[in-house]
Amino acid sequence: MENMELKNFWENIKSELLRVLPESAQPWVVPLEISGYDSGVITVVTGQMMGRDLLRKNHYKQIVEIIRNYTRNENTDFVIIYDEKAARDLRKENEKIQKKALERKIKEQAMENLSNMQSYSNLNLKYKFENFVVGKSNEFAYKVAMAVAQHPAQKYNPLFIYGNAGLGKTHLMQAIGHYTIFNNSKLKVKYTKTEDYVNDFISNSRNSKDTVENMSKFNKKYTNIDIILIDDIQFIESKNKTMAQMQHTFDSLYNKGKQIVITSDRVPKDIPTLTAALCSRFEMGLMVELTPPDFETRVEIIRKLANDNDLKYTEDALDYIARNYDKNIRELEGAFNKVSAYSEITEHPLDICLVKEVLKCNKASEEISFDKIAGITAKYFDTDIDDLKGTSRGQKISLARHVAIYLSRELTGKSFVSIAEYYNKKHTTIMFAHDKIKAELPLKRELAEAVREIRQVLKTV
Ligand code: ADP
Ligand code: MG
Repeated sequence: MENMELKNFWENIKSELLRVLPESAQPWVVPLEISGYDSGVITVVTGQMMGRDLLRKNHYKQIVEIIRNYTRNENTDFVIIYDEKAARDLRKENEKIQKKALERKIKEQAMENLSNMQSYSNLNLKYKFENFVVGKSNEFAYKVAMAVAQHPAQKYNPLFIYGNAGLGKTHLMQAIGHYTIFNNSKLKVKYTKTEDYVNDFISNSRNSKDTVENMSKFNKKYTNIDIILIDDIQFIESKNKTMAQMQHTFDSLYNKGKQIVITSDRVPKDIPTLTAALCSRFEMGLMVELTPPDFETRVEIIRKLANDNDLKYTEDALDYIARNYDKNIRELEGAFNKVSAYSEITEHPLDICLVKEVLKCNKASEEISFDKIAGITAKYFDTDIDDLKGTSRGQKISLARHVAIYLSRELTGKSFVSIAEYYNKKHTTIMFAHDKIKAELPLKRELAEAVREIRQVLKTV
């Protein structure tokens, strides 16, 4: 038997002895330590001479019976030796083993808690600080997020992270969640997309039966936590009730000293649906912006992807991808994943030739310019670019202008400010136009058809 196994074997017999023997024998049984189990003989050691003598004299027969029962062997024998030093050493060794076993159990429990909490919190395992490449464009946001993770609700509350799509807002926000769960497992973290929050609220408040109970469940779910991560707040509905509920959630958490982290593709005052009350709440902590990464950071991001997946590559291949995808890290990753999939399937090394071959088809859509979008949209609506850039509010020109603005944002991912410059408008006007078309698309068939056709033409020219 292994040492550990032997100890466990004896601990089991010992608890049986303690259960069956009279209480007066217990003080002598507890210190017995096993020293061996050979040829059917169990040898135990005690540091108490009197204990050895009493057990031998009064309980020997009963002990042997219990042991034979336990080992299911009629011939098992039992010897007690008195040896103070050996007893002390064995006890120490046993304590060490027990301590290790306990530590292992605690660790296993902690890992189990962690995975339970991760699934409760809705977090994606990839989005951790360790996987976040830091460069000039995101260094400040990274440091602030780390400070929030280390000192929730003490430093920057609420933390508002904003920036264009694909620049790491969700990643950074969830990194705060992972860090907290791992380092302070007592804190409860919840990640929610704004859309899910809104849908959850609507389905709980609509159901006429049990509404009070549902709403109290809803409130508990979103306020009985220590850190809330609300993603993409720009998708909040403009309905009064939803706004009031969001304000309630915010105030409950804030007043209890809980950390709130919010992301958005723009600053609060540029979200047209947001009430002034919520806007000022979101602005009262710290707002940090994520901007597109510089060339070196882009290279590091894909290099990390390659290394994490054990892929071989040439430097000029990474260089080429990083040069061509400079606005959106999701697209940068997408391009790299596409190339590495080709490389794997065709067994062609991941070098500049392969990269050029695979990515050339995407060039067309990358190069869509504001001019091209405006030109084709104007033609579709039977008007011209000057009208779109002008101030006419005629129905047809307005619609064409709104569609062109919507497509400029969707197809180039450029900022509202740069689209505003192109159309000689305020950037709030541009955002309004974009959001209007986006909201109407699922409702108006003719509009959806027009947008689809224009997109089609843009693809082929
Ligand atoms: P957003 O929420 O701003 O639209 P995401 O957080 O979803 O962007 O990021 C898009 C993708 O880019 C994700 O796969 C994310 O892991 C990755 N990414 C973003 N920033 C970084 C970074 N600094 N380092 C490594 N990967 C990043
Ligand atoms: Mg996101």
